[in-house]
Amino acid sequence: MKTVFRQSVPGRTGVVPSLPEKRASGMLPKELLRQNAPKLPEMSELDVVRHFTGLSRLNYCVDGNFYPLGSCTMKYNPKFMEHVASLPGFTQLHPLHARLPQGETLAQGALEAMYMTEQLLCEVTGMGAFTLNPMAGAQGELTGALLVAAYHKAKGNKKTKVVCPDSAHGTNPASAALAGFEVVNIASKDGIVDPAALAEVLDDSVAALMMTCPNTLGLFEKKLPEIVTLLRSVDALLYYDGANFNAIMWRMRVGDVGFDVVHLNLHKTMGTPHGGGGPGAGPVGVSERLIPFLPSPRVRKNDDGTYALHDDYPDSIGNVAPFQGNFCVTLKALGYMLRLGKEGLARASDYAVLNANYMRKLLEGHLDIPFNRICMHEFVASAANLAPYHVRALDLAKALLDKGYHAPTIYFPLIVKESLMFEPTETESKETLDRFCNDLIAIIDLAEKDPAPIIAAPVTLPVRRLDETKAAKEMVLTDEP
Ligand SMILES: *Cc1c(COP(=O)(O)O)cnc(C)c1O
Repeated sequence: MKTVFRQSVPGRTGVVPSLPEKRASGMLPKELLRQNAPKLPEMSELDVVRHFTGLSRLNYCVDGNFYPLGSCTMKYNPKFMEHVASLPGFTQLHPLHARLPQGETLAQGALEAMYMTEQLLCEVTGMGAFTLNPMAGAQGELTGALLVAAYHKAKGNKKTKVVCPDSAHGTNPASAALAGFEVVNIASKDGIVDPAALAEVLDDSVAALMMTCPNTLGLFEKKLPEIVTLLRSVDALLYYDGANFNAIMWRMRVGDVGFDVVHLNLHKTMGTPHGGGGPGAGPVGVSERLIPFLPSPRVRKNDDGTYALHDDYPDSIGNVAPFQGNFCVTLKALGYMLRLGKEGLARASDYAVLNANYMRKLLEGHLDIPFNRICMHEFVASAANLAPYHVRALDLAKALLDKGYHAPTIYFPLIVKESLMFEPTETESKETLDRFCNDLIAIIDLAEKDPAPIIAAPVTLPVRRLDETKAAKEMVLTDEP
């Protein structure tokens, strides 16, 4: 597709907005005014509309088709959430409003929305308090790791290590390392954390264990009570990576289980579409003993029922993000929780789990499924059974693109060879899951008879298979065909 600049025809116009020249020249210092007209493309309105509509069609999205990307929760989010986040009372508020004496009055609604969101998140997770500051799951992890460090420092504990299971998302060890900890890896057993392996590395130098539950294999961590007891014996904390929270809403409260720090990925679980690096939010919840260290300022309800931001937290780890994080993502989460309510959130998790198990049953017998038991909201299959035909997980993923789907997550988690990770989410219908599985099974059947077309896929997309390393390191940006 040609860029708008190459489509430009001198003299062609679309809509001509009234020229602000007069006003601008009066308001801006002369030296800041443009001397020559900018070289903007000259196009008709219709050409512009077609150009951008065409571009948007090159983009794969949940609004278009099924997106079974495991570990990401790429679900359909109600459009109602966009409405909530774009209410003018919120969008026209300056982020500094709440910090000005008279502005606090204008920002009451926003402060109340933040306060309510924190309260509801506490209720759903069973934690003592939340901060809405972190702007992504990974930033939530870093915040959590810094909170762990602050807690131990205040107690005079000499802690240097954080333990991560081998099924952990890569951001877990990275965040722990960024916060200054040495990362200790432990092997899982039968797909879940093995208390014996944990006991082996556990000593007074361990600050925390980072866990994901259900883990990245989609399996529930059944040994949690034993793990909590082990950690408490050396005053180590338990960190909960809440990226998979979609599986357990109102079915397990992590605070009740004994977790001390939790991050949630609101953009995965609660109403914000993501992918392509769009705005996210990784609020962090803590148990009572970590509350003094939360980032500040924090929103508080005053005795007279008004709300205000307060800085009087001497033990706070400080600011981790400008203002109050991605406020619009917070609003969507608030809208999501209020709209679904307790029953709705529980039902969303139940359907997510049901859909994943339905898909697992449809695909067993066609792909290897290393931990073939009841899973949570996602499961991991393996294409290792197609090795005799020289077909790999990557080939299946590429062939799915030609059938009009987004590919599942492949080669993650690392502990399963030729892995394909499927997360159907609660929002997909049985018909969609049937159609997808039938198409995938047809690809697998073909792979066993005539693998050549599968290995050549995709053939219907603007680009075929790329050398991904080169594509990242020697990017050629051109609109030449
Ligand atoms: C997505 C994810 C993260 C990282 O979250 P971001 O919001 O992408 O920074 C961490 N852990 C797990 C298990 C995840 O799936």
